[in-house]
Amino acid sequence: MIDSFYKKEHLTGKYLDPFNGFKEKEMPFEIRHDDITGVTCRILPGRYRIPVKPDIQAYLEKSTTSNCPFCPGLFEKGTPRFTPNISPAGKFQRGKAFLFPNAFPHDRFNCVAIFSDEHFIGLNELTPEAMQDGFGVCCDYFKRIKEVHPAVRFCSINWNYMPPAGGALIHPHIQTIVGENPTSYVARITAKARSYQEAVGSNLWRDLIAYEKETDERFIASTGAIAWMASFAPQGLAGEIRFIFHGKRSFFDLTDNDMIDLLAGLSRIFGYLDGKNFISFNLGLFAGLAENDDLWVQGRVLPRISLLPLGTSDVNYFEKLHDEIICPYVPEVIGGELKDLFQTRKE
Ligand SMILES: [Zn+2]
Repeated sequence: MIDSFYKKEHLTGKYLDPFNGFKEKEMPFEIRHDDITGVTCRILPGRYRIPVKPDIQAYLEKSTTSNCPFCPGLFEKGTPRFTPNISPAGKFQRGKAFLFPNAFPHDRFNCVAIFSDEHFIGLNELTPEAMQDGFGVCCDYFKRIKEVHPAVRFCSINWNYMPPAGGALIHPHIQTIVGENPTSYVARITAKARSYQEAVGSNLWRDLIAYEKETDERFIASTGAIAWMASFAPQGLAGEIRFIFHGKRSFFDLTDNDMIDLLAGLSRIFGYLDGKNFISFNLGLFAGLAENDDLWVQGRVLPRISLLPLGTSDVNYFEKLHDEIICPYVPEVIGGELKDLFQTRKE
């Protein structure tokens, strides 16, 4: 049943190749559509090149600790505080991590959390320990906001790591959104799970995990309750990694061990991306704040690139105007490489 959601078409472009005496050359590609996420993308294996690692120093020279609103000094003076009914202390704190209201909210309950006072943490330094308090302080906030506003039903933890992914600041920070209504993506996958349940009498997320595990083309690993896999149709130019918490129907179903498994898995993925010369990613974790069998807690990681030498965006007219993605990274290759990595590290 799940395979009917995955559509794949093989096509070939043809031209006379200037690098081979203008002989006819065929360039195969695939159009893929994932009916669960609604993503359509074009996999172009022939276009794959190992990215050149951008100069991180150049970013650090433009964004220094002295002009950073999240570094000690400006942080105490310049970040918003909560009203006392939400937090008498004004901010949520765990260790060196803080959570506070976004100064430019794009939802009623939109916050920012920093992991620590460390201005820059490299991809390969994002250990579970480095992220633990930052994610923990989001958990504290979700509990509190649900107490104060019981009607809220959805939450997410989001991350634009470094400028190629839209990060406006180098200082590592994540953002939370809480609301009564889901965002478009969450509404789409939740509706899909609902209609699947009604049509098939089974849970979409359970069946999706089982399908990916069984076909073993993109499945990476199970760690605790979490199933990790490469997305069949990635939302980004550099592929996509998904994770689903088996049977977790609300954010509040997550245990401390689930969070440890999540951060350990993410840390492995970030190490993998670092090894592939990436310096940037988007991450989203989506969950209900009320029990919802149509939305098992889940998320996705999207590596992001600025194409050198011009710093060209990895989003162009195809993504913006046609609502389709061009991806030179083959999902099954990403899945296979990460599978090996997860197995190696477990030993
Ligand atoms: Zn800073």
